[in-house]
Amino acid sequence: MSIEIVFPVGLWDELNRHLLRAPKDGSDHLVDEQMAFVIAGINRSDSRIRILAHEIHTAKPEHLFRQSPAAIAPRMEYVASMLARCRRDGWSLIEVHSHPFASGRGTTFSSIDWRNDRRTMPPTSGFLPDVAMYASMVIGQESLDAHVYERSTNSIVPVTNIYVLGRGANNRAITSIPTTSGFNGNYHAGSVEERHQRQELLFGGEGQRMLSRAAIAVVGLGGLGSFVALELAYLGIGRLVLIDPDCVEKSNLNRLMGAKSTDIGRKKVEVYRDLIGAIAPGTQIAAVDSSIASEEALNYAKDCDLLMGCVDNHGARLILNHLAIRYLLPLIDAGTGIRLSGVKRSFAMGGQVHVVIPGTGCLECRGFIDASKAAFELAPPDIRGYEREHGYGTQQVAPSVVFLNGVVASLQVAEIAYLLNLSELIPVIPLNIYDAIKRNVIAVSIKDYKACPTCGVDGVQGVGDLAPIHVPIASAGKPPPSIAR
Ligand SMILES: [Zn+2]
Ligand SMILES: [Zn+2]
Repeated sequence: MSIEIVFPVGLWDELNRHLLRAPKDGSDHLVDEQMAFVIAGINRSDSRIRILAHEIHTAKPEHLFRQSPAAIAPRMEYVASMLARCRRDGWSLIEVHSHPFASGRGTTFSSIDWRNDRRTMPPTSGFLPDVAMYASMVIGQESLDAHVYERSTNSIVPVTNIYVLGRGANNRAITSIPTTSGFNGNYHAGSVEERHQRQELLFGGEGQRMLSRAAIAVVGLGGLGSFVALELAYLGIGRLVLIDPDCVEKSNLNRLMGAKSTDIGRKKVEVYRDLIGAIAPGTQIAAVDSSIASEEALNYAKDCDLLMGCVDNHGARLILNHLAIRYLLPLIDAGTGIRLSGVKRSFAMGGQVHVVIPGTGCLECRGFIDASKAAFELAPPDIRGYEREHGYGTQQVAPSVVFLNGVVASLQVAEIAYLLNLSELIPVIPLNIYDAIKRNVIAVSIKDYKACPTCGVDGVQGVGDLAPIHVPIASAGKPPPSIAR
């Protein structure tokens, strides 16, 4: 069981600015220790616990009982107010303080910190809700340490890694900072498999090992997702979670890469589990034959490091977007489209790839989810049927062609490689639009929308397991006019 803490870069920067402030007069005088509390959600699974930063409270002088360059202690009332907030709303709590005198590697808890934590963590943790966790973290100039109190064993256990999402100090989109206590010393060990040697020339050994440590969910195994799943297997991703409720149909065989005539009627996830097992036997695969809206699929998806959205409708895309923001999971979402016009042989054809790094905007505030279409698509079948009979929604079959899927799927998979192992050199581009007629890819920059109901200040960023994924339900007989096509 690994325990990790995840921060969106905005909160991480705010925390560090407070904790490691320079002396006011610019001198090299000793600076005081500082402290802060982080209100956090939890992403709990069988293999891993992730504590998800949601909100930061920096301690002011009036919150402190003692403060010096070598010690810091909060007032009881201040701690009590944080605990009351967590207890009321179900949050977890991280107490963070600085060791401004600690430079270089190896920042860790002092013997006084340990004595305090052994004494105060068990009773303090008792004030939190049952599902919540109490963590303590210490930040030095160049390294840090963290641990949590585990109620079931009445012990203090190390946090292994801190993840910072978005552009951090080292210009990486995903920064992994090993803690001093959790660092096992052989993070860089292990040789690259012979089958990946030609990639290692591009990625480097550590870059290739980043891929092999990653767990990625591929949501949707249609024309796009089938390509994506196979490409990720060739890349050497360590664990793939394949999510799709459908079976292979004869009409899919023009675009389901690798699927055979004999696969007709089989679950897509099983077909691709077998195919990937033959191509890359080292890949761990979970085949989940249910919709992304199901609890089973959500539980598998939240246990991954990254999400690949290969869905063909706004309802599933809305759920993926929420999942990414709630659980602080980067989402690479892609779609293709062919629009035939009334004029003979005239059409538009292309696709787009979105990179959503929680803390830097989401699909909703970028305007890429049509809420009324999403509501229609997520409605129960009887309501959808009723609305179709009354002229809403559409059952028209959309055109789909293999080469378009191949281009867009490869653009999508390339983003994974950039995020995981080449991102210091290659910028994150939030949106790439491919025009298959003009044969070009346009990089689009996007301004974040602060009032977003999903990723904004009152949104669900870092909420984790606290509440079920919000699914809007269409009201029977009253579909919004924009559904009609
Ligand atoms: Zn300390
Ligand atoms: Zn947003």
